[in-house]
Amino acid sequence: MKKVGIIGAGQLGQMLGFAGQKLDLEFVFLDPSPNPPAAVVGPVLPLPFDSAEGLSQLARDTDVVTYEFENVPVSAIEQISGDVAVYPPSDALRYAQDRLHEKQLFESLQIPIPSYRTIDSDQDLREAASEIGLPLVLKTRRLGYDGKGQIVVRDEDDLANAVAALGGSDLIAEQLVPFDREVSAIGVRNVRGDVVVYPLIENQHRNGILNISRAPVDAPALTALAIRHLEQMLCHLDYVGVLTIEFFVVGDELLANEFAPRVHNSGHWTIEGAATSQFENHLRAVLDLPLGDPSPVGHAAMLNLIGSMPPPNLDLGGYSACLHDYGKEARPGRKLGHITVVTGDTAALDLTVTRLTEILVA
Ligand code: AMP
Repeated sequence: MKKVGIIGAGQLGQMLGFAGQKLDLEFVFLDPSPNPPAAVVGPVLPLPFDSAEGLSQLARDTDVVTYEFENVPVSAIEQISGDVAVYPPSDALRYAQDRLHEKQLFESLQIPIPSYRTIDSDQDLREAASEIGLPLVLKTRRLGYDGKGQIVVRDEDDLANAVAALGGSDLIAEQLVPFDREVSAIGVRNVRGDVVVYPLIENQHRNGILNISRAPVDAPALTALAIRHLEQMLCHLDYVGVLTIEFFVVGDELLANEFAPRVHNSGHWTIEGAATSQFENHLRAVLDLPLGDPSPVGHAAMLNLIGSMPPPNLDLGGYSACLHDYGKEARPGRKLGHITVVTGDTAALDLTVTRLTEILVA
C-alpha cells in the first residue's frame, strides 16, 4: 500500500484523502492547526509547515509528498526533495507565491494578462494611475488570497491611503478588468508527462471569495485557448499534479489573473460531476499512475458554504445535490463546506442553483 505525505490538512487534504481510499492509499499530514479537517482520513503530525522534524518524518514514512496550499515555505519543499519525490515542483510554488513573478511567468509564455505596474511608494501608484488609468486594483505581491490583501482604487481620493493600507511596498497595481465573466481551467500532468484537462469552469465570486462554479462552459474557442495556456504552463514547469489557472474573459480574449499549483475550489464539482475527480487525478499524477478521464458526466454547479452551514434538516433530496461538510468550526468568511448539483441540462441546472441559493440565504 502506497503512502502519500501531504503538507496541510485542510479541506483540500480531506478531499484528497477521500479520493485516495478508492486507490487504496494511506496518508499522513503535516499541519499545526487544532482538529484540521483532514484528520478524518489519516494521522496528522501537529508541527509547523517548516518543522525539520515533521518534514523529515514525512520524507521517511511516505512514497511521495505533495501539498494542499500555496503558502508552504519553498524551503520546506527543498529540505526534503533529496529524500523523497515532492510534487508539484518547487519552481511552480515559487512563482505562485509572488504576484510579480507569476505575472512575469505568464508574460514569458505569451499568456495575456491585465496591464500592471510594481508599486513601492505613493509616487509609483500615481504614475501607475496615469499610465494604466483608474479604476485599478492594488494587491500585495505575497500572501493574498480570497480577495484579501487587495484594494480597489476608484478615484484620485483613494490614491492617498491605498499604498500605506497595504504595507507601503512590495505591491502590484493592475487594471480593474471590465470582464464579461471569470473562468478557470484545471489540468493535470503525471510524472511520465501525460496530460488531461477538465472542461472550462465559470466562477462567480462574492466579496472576493468563490461563491458558485459551473461546468462545463459551452465556449469551444475559449476552451481551446485555455487548454493551450494550461499545456504551455504544465510543460514549461515540468509540472506534476493538478494546476489551475484563473482567467478573466473579455470578449473572445482570456487574461490570466493567477494560477494555483494545487487542487482548486473551482474543481470541487469534479467529485460528482466528472468521470474522475481532480483529487483522484492529482494523486494519480504524483504517483505516476495513468490519469483518469476528466470528462463531465452532466452539467454541474458547486455552491460554497461560507460562514455558516445550512440547517441539518435541509432537504436536498429533490435536487440530486450532494452536501460536503468539512467539519470546521463556523466563523464569518470561512469555507465550511460545499454543495454540488449535477443535472442533465443547463436549464435544470440554472433552476436548481436559483432554488438552492434561495434556500441557503433564507
Ligand atoms: P485574486 O485574489 O487575485 O484571485 O482576486 C479575487 C477576485 O477579485 C477575482 O476573482 C476577481 O473577481 C476580483 N479581481 C481581482 N483582480 C481583479 C482585476 N484586476 N480586475 C477585476 N477584478 C479583479
